[in-house]
Amino acid sequence: MEKNNLINELKQLYKTKNLYSSIILNSRSINDLQEVSQELMRFMFCENQSNQDDGCVFCSRFKKNLLLDVITVGDSTSEISKEKIQEIIDKFSFTSIEETKTKVYVIDVVENLKTSAANALLKFLEEPPLNTYALLLSKDRSKIIQTIRSRCKLFVIDSHFDHSDQNDLEIMFETRSKETYLLSASKFKKINKSEFIEILEQAMNRTILKKFPEFAEDTITLIEDLKNLPNDKLAIDNYFIKIAERL
Ligand SMILES: [Zn+2]
Repeated sequence: MEKNNLINELKQLYKTKNLYSSIILNSRSINDLQEVSQELMRFMFCENQSNQDDGCVFCSRFKKNLLLDVITVGDSTSEISKEKIQEIIDKFSFTSIEETKTKVYVIDVVENLKTSAANALLKFLEEPPLNTYALLLSKDRSKIIQTIRSRCKLFVIDSHFDHSDQNDLEIMFETRSKETYLLSASKFKKINKSEFIEILEQAMNRTILKKFPEFAEDTITLIEDLKNLPNDKLAIDNYFIKIAERL
């Protein structure tokens, strides 16, 4: 989903008390992950539920990292230990004297959890304390442990439209020229699998279903094969052969 639309949707869910207690935000861009999670949290704590920073005491404390009911663990790159998760659990399980208060913890990024950390988190996700929200950031959702993935609501932030790989796939369908086809096919065979899955899924949501429905079924099949089959090179070859027949 487009970044600003997603921010608005999440705010709306929170406002109507329908926000999921455990959310995965996925994007290859750390900046986008930060922007969405930070703006959602500012809104959650703002005393006026204002759509912009209105300078209220909570907005300004949030900006200065002074809110006690927000915990962030991880730094986008290094591993996250079980102790870090235990700190969250200890803090948010036993300090809820004012139970109506909103509490949020951010995991940056969820695929960096050590196995023991993931297991500790899992139990907490299953039985979250009242008004406690988990924002799990993810750069590569194919690396998230399935048991965590299945307990969270996933939101994917669209990559910027000028991403060159993305445009190549969509340009290929748009132009239907043999030349772009050959260029794209050789390019996509070289990039890593999870990146290719993401490109396919984004192209599906953005243009294939609406503009090129004749390629939808094969694209869905390829995404499934890439996720499940060990021999992804063969699956990719088959996909491009089928596309070539229809260009
Ligand atoms: Zn405010």
